[in-house]
Amino acid sequence: MLDVLIVGAGPSGAVAATLLARRGLRVRLVDRARFPRDKLCGDTVNPGTLAMLRRLGMAEPLESRGLVIGGMTVTGADGVTVESPYPAGLEGRSLVRRELDWALLQQATAAGAEFEPLTIVRRAVVDDGACGSVGGVVVDGQPSERTIRARVVIAADGRRSALAFGLGLARHPERPRRWAIGAYFENVSRMSAFGEMHVRRGGYIGVAPIPGGLTNVCLVKPWAGPDGALRDPEVLLRQELARDQTLRERFAGARLVTRPVVLGPLAVDVDQRDTPGLLLAGDAAGFIDPMTGDGLRFAVRGGELAARAAFQALDRGWDGVHAQLGRERRREFASKWRFNRALRALVSFPAAVRVGGAVASIAPSVVRAVVARAGDCALRV
Ligand SMILES: Cc1cc2nc3c(=O)[nH]c(=O)nc-3n(C[C@H](O)[C@H](O)[C@H](O)COP(=O)(O)OP(=O)(O)OC[C@H]3O[C@@H](n4cnc5c(N)ncnc54)[C@H](O)[C@@H]3O)c2cc1C
Repeated sequence: MLDVLIVGAGPSGAVAATLLARRGLRVRLVDRARFPRDKLCGDTVNPGTLAMLRRLGMAEPLESRGLVIGGMTVTGADGVTVESPYPAGLEGRSLVRRELDWALLQQATAAGAEFEPLTIVRRAVVDDGACGSVGGVVVDGQPSERTIRARVVIAADGRRSALAFGLGLARHPERPRRWAIGAYFENVSRMSAFGEMHVRRGGYIGVAPIPGGLTNVCLVKPWAGPDGALRDPEVLLRQELARDQTLRERFAGARLVTRPVVLGPLAVDVDQRDTPGLLLAGDAAGFIDPMTGDGLRFAVRGGELAARAAFQALDRGWDGVHAQLGRERRREFASKWRFNRALRALVSFPAAVRVGGAVASIAPSVVRAVVARAGDCALRV
């Protein structure tokens, strides 16, 4: 039997697989996709996440192929613009997720993990004894479903985790219900080595330079409701860019090079109950909002903490494993989750965005502090 089965070969799954395989365990990663695969993301890796990947010896793809990101430019609806270099010369990187995730997965297989692509996990296998412990997963197969058993299952299958939703651990909160539209452009004028966050009433537009002279654009807005304005994401994206005072001119000569991708509702609340046999990592363990551009920090560190918990469970049994993992996650993430929730709430209220813009114009240092915090610049790795 496998020691550890990891569902989802994104960054959290690949990091967990690499660390467990390095310790000589029998690890298999499964993913519904064939890699390299696309993933809607702002494609930026903040300074704290980059430092973490360096410590794990997994930063090579970002060092060799990533574009240096020196900070963030933040603009408000009323025209205020604040340039915020990361403090102390820190840098992030940008690299399209298709490349980054493929490179991280290759590090996992080089460490000894098996990888099975095109494998769709439908649900967990829950054993009757041992208070409903998870003993494996059921996957789509030809001609019928098949089961993969393992002593530990790590759900790293992203925001819409089939395992977390299937076991009733995850739900989309009533509010906020925001959706993201992402696409790549070329010929956007006045791009710099900074990421950009354009905060608008009710939503925001993230813009980032990525290798190859392309520009990543992610528009995040509340769900338009049953009239379905999201039905044509390309039209919506073009309209938003065309009516934006700051971006209109810069995108006037730009060419869309990919079909826009839509994702949502974005927020997922997860209750990590004590389920023997199962650990959650990355977005499968909860997702707040992409505004702070730090999902990869939670994915990388969450994968590392899940790997440590898996090792502990295999060594000494499940007693206390979830409690300890919960404590570690709270210690590492709780203050950042509060910060992210506060920013998400601020953008939901037009009056708060107006006040935020006024504060930014009087005291740009406040925005610079927010950028440093969002970028995990003080993270001790
Ligand atoms: C619009 C947007 C912009 C963002 N921008 C940034 C940014 O700039 N910087 C940043 O740090 N973070 C950003 N994030 C967050 C970041 O993308 C995620 O936090 C990160 O991808 C989480 O990694 P993960 O490994 O947990 O999940 P994922 O990267 O989602 O990987 C999950 C994997 O599981 C697989 N899978 C799913 N279901 C199944 C199944 N049933 N069976 C088998 N396999 C399955 C998928 O194919 C996928 O490969 C952004 C998010 C969004 C939505």
